[in-house]
Amino acid sequence: MAENKKIPYKIYLEESEMPTQWYNVRADMKNKPAPLLNPATLEPMKPEELEHVFCKELVQQELDDTTPYFDIPQEIRDFYKMYRPSPLVRAYCLEKALDTPAKIYYKFEGNNTSGSHKLNSAIAQAYYAKKQGLKGVTTETGAGQWGTALSMACSYFDLDCRVYMVKCSYEQKPFRREVMRTYGAQVTPSPSETTAVGRKILEAHPGTTGSLGCAISEAVEDATTHEGYRYVLGSVLSQVLLHQTVIGLETKAALDKYGIKPDMIIGCAGGGSNLGGLISPFVGEKLRGEADYRIIAVEPASCPSLTRGKYAYDFCDTGMVCPLAKMYTLGSGFIPSPNHAGGLRYHGMSSIVSQLYDDKLLEAVSVEQTSVFEAAERFARVEGILPAPESSHAIKVAIDEALKCKETGEEKTIVFGLTGTGYFDMVAYGKYNDGEMSDYIPTDEDLAVGFAGLPKVDK
Ligand SMILES: *Cc1c(COP(=O)(O)O)cnc(C)c1O
Repeated sequence: MAENKKIPYKIYLEESEMPTQWYNVRADMKNKPAPLLNPATLEPMKPEELEHVFCKELVQQELDDTTPYFDIPQEIRDFYKMYRPSPLVRAYCLEKALDTPAKIYYKFEGNNTSGSHKLNSAIAQAYYAKKQGLKGVTTETGAGQWGTALSMACSYFDLDCRVYMVKCSYEQKPFRREVMRTYGAQVTPSPSETTAVGRKILEAHPGTTGSLGCAISEAVEDATTHEGYRYVLGSVLSQVLLHQTVIGLETKAALDKYGIKPDMIIGCAGGGSNLGGLISPFVGEKLRGEADYRIIAVEPASCPSLTRGKYAYDFCDTGMVCPLAKMYTLGSGFIPSPNHAGGLRYHGMSSIVSQLYDDKLLEAVSVEQTSVFEAAERFARVEGILPAPESSHAIKVAIDEALKCKETGEEKTIVFGLTGTGYFDMVAYGKYNDGEMSDYIPTDEDLAVGFAGLPKVDK
């Protein structure tokens, strides 16, 4: 019996067991995510309209609600082989330290130079850009992981890469910037004077530390005003979530190999792509009535789009140049407190994750930054891996759930996504170590400002 097999510390798949297709969970959703709307006409975006901004094949993936599987092109699978499969680790040491009967597993996506799961989609997006014969791509980056991943992917396919980096990260994370430049990317702090939208934002908010929403507007403007360029995005979009399903498919294959059935699956939620990618195959089983799992999205209390946001059509960016998406959102004008470390700062959430949440197929909790770093430290000291602050949101809730099992004596199986390493986050760790980290939770009044800027859409 598979169940009696000794579970190794790390479950790796054979090369032949790696996924050859991405899974599109929308195909199994009864309530499909709402369509992207043209901000001027409020009509669903047509492929031709989106193709000015995004690569053609990615637009098809973006708009496809019905095809359950997409083949992963051989070139992308070859690149995946350089750093995948990622290990599914049994956290024996953490279980022991917590003295819990729970069985804890984590899928570790930090074993590549970019340091996170983002490379899974970066390489796919660079591939389709190259295939279309483009010169290059533009993008935004917040904490820097996406820009780093995209730089690596673009250098692999010999594409030009222009990155608008949120100003506070640009200043706090000079090493991230240098990694990107080493891979050949051009990095500009955002908001910048290089774009019209950047100048407008600077005029309205002098001295702003920037936000992902601002950086997106600048990157889109750059792409749409330069021949042979398209814009690519590191999360939120359905195409990105699709590429990230490689995480969930590998996780599921590794668990199945040892006959392990998880009770709960936990992931951190920034724009929702890593969480969506991790949970998709499991949610698919839920949707088809084949199995049931508890699924928990964890977000920062400082940027609580699922737990305190509104489910509404909103702009994806501050400059209001992108299509409208229906999502759980804090409003595109919401700028999280700069004292919040690292990623997970986006005002909205993937429309797929939003719809699944609205349909109660997953739960969401928000956690405060200091408690997240406590969990990170605890994890690092026993499991060895120095986790990214974003990933540590999932660690925090996995530990909380494992401690509940200790009280009740239940032997639950917990799987969580460990999305990346924290090596570039030492400024934040330093603050934590010096006892200088604070927890800023927006007040209802703060949130009201963001909500007031939501577009009026009767859909
Ligand atoms: C970007 C990032 C996240 C957030 O991922 P989403 O898919 O946007 O939710 C989480 N962890 C790490 C390490 C990241 O780099």
